[in-house]
Amino acid sequence: MIPFNKPFLVGKELSYIEKAVKSGKISGNGYFTVKCQEFFQEKYGLKKALLTTSCTDALEMAAMLMDINEGDEVIVPSYTFVSSALAFTRQGAKIKFADSRPDHPGIDELAIENLISPKTKAIVVVHYAGVACDMDLIMNIAEKYNLFVVEDAAQAIDSFYKGKPLGSIGHFGAFSFHETKNIISGEGGLLTINDERFIDRAEIIWEKGTNRSAFFKGEVNKYGWVDTGSSFLPSELISAFLYAQLEYLEKIQEKRKALWNTYYNTLKVLDKEYLKLPYLPTFSTNNAHMFYLILKDVEERDKLITYLKDNGVHVVFHYLSLHKSSYHLDSGTGELQNLPLSDRYTDCLVRLPLYYDLGIKDVKRISGLIIKFFE
Ligand SMILES: *Cc1c(COP(=O)(O)O)cnc(C)c1O
Repeated sequence: MIPFNKPFLVGKELSYIEKAVKSGKISGNGYFTVKCQEFFQEKYGLKKALLTTSCTDALEMAAMLMDINEGDEVIVPSYTFVSSALAFTRQGAKIKFADSRPDHPGIDELAIENLISPKTKAIVVVHYAGVACDMDLIMNIAEKYNLFVVEDAAQAIDSFYKGKPLGSIGHFGAFSFHETKNIISGEGGLLTINDERFIDRAEIIWEKGTNRSAFFKGEVNKYGWVDTGSSFLPSELISAFLYAQLEYLEKIQEKRKALWNTYYNTLKVLDKEYLKLPYLPTFSTNNAHMFYLILKDVEERDKLITYLKDNGVHVVFHYLSLHKSSYHLDSGTGELQNLPLSDRYTDCLVRLPLYYDLGIKDVKRISGLIIKFFE
């Protein structure tokens, strides 16, 4: 069976974990955490990057930093992972869901302005499959209405919008190193703080509401409880694993792009007539996070999943529209919205295996099966 995803080792993951243990420190904010954060800051020109235990945590930190409270509204695409909305509802916000683009599962930039009310505080955008949302349009709307922008860049490592790294454009960016992403550490995440006003407070919220970071930098002579927060920082064991992967970021990306391009080129014969291949707007790069197909309807999509399973290939569908989720509708603040494109991607999208250890010949075999299915 070719699995949908498989964790992988690419370099010194295990020896770095050993090194961390032998150094005498495996709690957070040590040598490897700093190395990872510096890697991101230097490679992508970020003002501040803080490792977290997940992208969900990074989004929660963003919600705390923006002081999201009861009575606030946050605009979130419906076709996304639960955390893109959950991080804000748990602060008391009401979510207004936005539909997807017709050509791509990402947020329909033109649908955002209609959802804005005097209570709106933030827009969350998701760079689905690592493909950029139209950030110029989004940042212009945010400026016009004085809103914050959070980029859920969970899937968007090493991808760019008009040359700018994703996760560096909004006020905050949140990345994931969950085992299904391009760069992995099991669970893991990163918050980028692109607005300097938030940097000092982010370090406090990160370290359980204490000014411990400032203390270690010698900026204060004792540390204590000064703000809200939680334990958002990962153990050095996680950071050690992650740093080993970051050292091979380019090699990992090259491999993923080769797999992605093989899918694209072999399945091109089916495009438009039988299904739709991923669409790439000219303003975005492709980080080969995901290879997905959009089928005609839910029946055909489910038939293809079963057919491939019977032939030893595990493929999966993706998100279920959040605007129809029971938690949202039962929350008391969730109103029934009509978002047909989000529902279409819920029904018709299927994701194919794409991971570092997958072979080009596996991709050719999977593509061959899909072509045969349509014959
Ligand atoms: C994976 C993912 C998340 C959650 O990431 P975790 O690190 O598992 O918390 C959030 N948003 C999107 C769009 C994702 O793909």
